[in-house]
Amino acid sequence: MSTVVSEAKDVAVTSSYIGGRWVAPEGKTSQPIVNPANGETLAILPYSNAADVDRAVKDAHRAWLEWREVPVVDRVQPLYRFKTLLEKNVREIGAILTRENGKTLEDAMTEVKRGVQMVEVACGMPSLMMGDSLNDVAKGIDCRTIRQPIGVCAGITPFNFPAMVPLWMYPFAIAAGNTFLIKPSERVPMTPTRVVELLLEAGLPAGVIQLVHGGREVVEALLAHPLIKAISFVGSSPVAKIVYKEAAAHGKRVQALGGAKNHLVVMPDADLPQTVDAIMGSAFGAAGQRCLAGSVLVPVGDVAEPLLDLLVKKAKALPVGDPLEVGIQVGPLVSEDQKKRVLGYIEKGVAEGAKAICDGRSVDADPSGAFVGPTVLDHVQPTATVAREEIFGPVLSVIRAKDLDDAINLVNSSDFGNTTTIYTKSGKAAREYQSRVEVGMVGVNMAVAAPMAFFPFAGWKNSFFGDLHAHGKDAVAFYTEQKVLMTRWF
Ligand code: NAD
Repeated sequence: MSTVVSEAKDVAVTSSYIGGRWVAPEGKTSQPIVNPANGETLAILPYSNAADVDRAVKDAHRAWLEWREVPVVDRVQPLYRFKTLLEKNVREIGAILTRENGKTLEDAMTEVKRGVQMVEVACGMPSLMMGDSLNDVAKGIDCRTIRQPIGVCAGITPFNFPAMVPLWMYPFAIAAGNTFLIKPSERVPMTPTRVVELLLEAGLPAGVIQLVHGGREVVEALLAHPLIKAISFVGSSPVAKIVYKEAAAHGKRVQALGGAKNHLVVMPDADLPQTVDAIMGSAFGAAGQRCLAGSVLVPVGDVAEPLLDLLVKKAKALPVGDPLEVGIQVGPLVSEDQKKRVLGYIEKGVAEGAKAICDGRSVDADPSGAFVGPTVLDHVQPTATVAREEIFGPVLSVIRAKDLDDAINLVNSSDFGNTTTIYTKSGKAAREYQSRVEVGMVGVNMAVAAPMAFFPFAGWKNSFFGDLHAHGKDAVAFYTEQKVLMTRWF
């Protein structure tokens, strides 16, 4: 039985790690993992089912009874070694990621490094988990709080950050004394499998981590399993909503991060060359397949014409192609299906009255790859489909606003509220924007306002269902339960 091989070119079986063993469930559903840049089959993924989930959860529970007794300073030791192993293998993990996901190698390696930062922060768990104390809350009575692990936690993750998003979850959960079951996206299973291999190589005791590959059946079994205490989900909004409801109905705590429709507002006083560079990174980086990708461009007042002239000139020149090749800035979408979906949105945008001033429908790249070039749709109406729905491709819809109020009203009319950025030289305009927009992560003159590991990460509205956000101190609160201890000695 092989786990995913590091030579990502070999067709390997991508195994699950259940009950302290690498296993490839046989005779059940399986699917090929395809390189979206050229259609090559990279691996076969056998799906686990509800019985596999039950075995994994029971083993994780058994392991938890011991792991929670291990002092936190000892629990973080494998994570320190894990960090070093990740750093040593950044390029290899990046190459696997690029092959199965399609993002450029440089972007993939940046993703892995972002993941390493999560591990670094989780290594601070001895300080992060500390409670409060106050002596003499009444005469001779002392009071303190402690944080305790909650049990078996599970994570369900999307295709677009197969290295980083699982690392938003299990380093924090494990360091806090929980055991963890990860169910990665079935579209990109090789990267998270390689990362779990490194975690095991770092010396994490068997059972503390379980890796269960599969689709909806696995997710449904996780949401209903009585031994799972907490669910962390990252993916599209419709699935996030289902996960939130189902997990809560089964008495679990849940954080469910959903989709996005992110607005980039450009004020007339913005620094145009800097702003255009930031917009390009935001809208077309990772072929627009980021939950923080700019998707609606909102030029305010008379900035529209000069902004769009420069943007379109640069967007047309962006190198699209094999994401392993140096210099390429836009790789393929994750799959042929995703390409069809994105092309469908562009068609719909044009049918609803928009003008494709940069048209990525025909692009000079390998026809067997899922390529769509940078696309800018001008004169989009605020009610149009491409103005309201998440496209998840390199497509920017332009909606002009007459002033800052108009722009803020447009942003706040969205069903989503993940991230937004304003480009301006005016501190007053930026401050007002930051204060009034109903969005979880707000940037000023940023390309991608991605909070780092020690800050919380989540949107508002349909971009997030739950209370405690991902990583940062919120992750510590999410993966622990507080207890208040009051003491009086005679
Ligand atoms: P997805 O919702 O299709 O899948 C996410 C996970 O849910 C996968 O593990 C998948 O197996 C599982 N799943 C899919 N359909 C299911 C169903 N019907 N029942 C139960 N489980 C199901 O998302 P995706 O296409 O893999 O990822 C892209 C989406 O994730 C985008 O919407 C993007 O905005 C979002 N995303 C959000 C954030 C954030 O921080 N808010 C970060 C990354 C990605």
